[in-house]
Amino acid sequence: MNVLVINAGSSSLKYQLIDLENREVMAKGICERVGSDEAFHKHGIDENEVVHDAPMEDHNAAMALVLEALTSGSNKVIDSLDEIDAIGHRVVQGGKYFSESAFIDDDVIAKIDELAELAPLHNKAALMGIEACQKNMPGKPMVAVFDTSYFQTLPQKAFMYPIPYEYYDKYALRKYGAHGTSHRYIAERAAQYLDENLNDLKMITCHLGNGCSMTAIDHGMAIDTSMGLTPLDGLMMGTRCGAIDPAIVPFLMEHEGLTFDEINDVMNKKSGLLGISGISNDLRSVRTASEEGDERAQLAYEMYSHSVKKYLGQYIAEMGGVDVIVVTAGVGENCDKMRRMIFSGLQSLGIVLDLEKNKLRGGEREISTDDSPVQILIIPTNEELMIALDTLDVVEHLRLEGTL
Ligand code: ADP
Repeated sequence: MNVLVINAGSSSLKYQLIDLENREVMAKGICERVGSDEAFHKHGIDENEVVHDAPMEDHNAAMALVLEALTSGSNKVIDSLDEIDAIGHRVVQGGKYFSESAFIDDDVIAKIDELAELAPLHNKAALMGIEACQKNMPGKPMVAVFDTSYFQTLPQKAFMYPIPYEYYDKYALRKYGAHGTSHRYIAERAAQYLDENLNDLKMITCHLGNGCSMTAIDHGMAIDTSMGLTPLDGLMMGTRCGAIDPAIVPFLMEHEGLTFDEINDVMNKKSGLLGISGISNDLRSVRTASEEGDERAQLAYEMYSHSVKKYLGQYIAEMGGVDVIVVTAGVGENCDKMRRMIFSGLQSLGIVLDLEKNKLRGGEREISTDDSPVQILIIPTNEELMIALDTLDVVEHLRLEGTL
């Protein structure tokens, strides 16, 4: 079974065609700056990547280009669209409606649209991707995989905000979380890696990339997560501030004369590693600067690791302990210095990093000492594979039921 995984942004369309029999990526790419004069299309198989400028006025046109690249030319991987069995779409906000992935029909589309109020850019973009697929491949089964659905198991005490209850009733303001597909994937892989049942474990998963989030998974169920109503909450990130005193927002608006859009920009695009270091949101550049003695770069490192430590402590308290900590994404997988800082001084909690193993590179691996009571694992995330597997599950289930 071949599944086309689509991740549509407001001006981009990312895709992977995955052969689920061999769990292999057949081709992947991205259309960027869709709708602008500078639009281009990157399409590749393995390391063999072709980039070319390509006018595309909208997601429909982008999708047509993608399908053409998959089925013709030097980098084609299939002969016809019949070889695509189903399509999986990443959708950011599933609200209260979706606690699992869903077959896309008119009702699901209407709900994704209704939920756009909570994630305006993201859900509208996903709808553009869905519509583009409907136009270019009418009748092809499609499944929506939501970033938020993994967190529908959170208890109310964890997902509510202590603001007047009426706002929950009126606007559905609550914690929804994000990165759910990544947390679910690394949690399942970690249990498989350890040859344990996820339902027997207390686990903390840490997605540390440009965007960062952590989740407490108690015996297989997500019970808390760091991102909130939006992906701005929680940990300090590349350019996002994460949790700050909310009073800072009106203070800055008043003293700096910032509009609503401007303060949003400060918190989403000018804060985090970039805001503190003044150098970059990319930890590699911050690391170089800190090693050259730049004090703000070093402070950015310390604040980032401090922020992760705080959530580790919180989740250990919430679960009454932890058996396994899993890290993933750009920073989590690659930065030994950050991992060393995050896990330093936690020996009394049974968390003992092996400094030698921590320096080694590779794929899935354990970096705690052999006798550490808590195991620390690195599991490279693979959200696209998870989306493809979910798509297969939903489609096969409906086929078995005879409704597809
Ligand atoms: P996203 O959240 O955008 O998916 P990624 O998971 O791709 O982000 O992570 C990107 C970030 O990972 C980069 O901005 C960079 O800070 C960090 N990163 C990647 N490789 C390294 C490395 N070798 N050392 C330190 N940081 C790294």
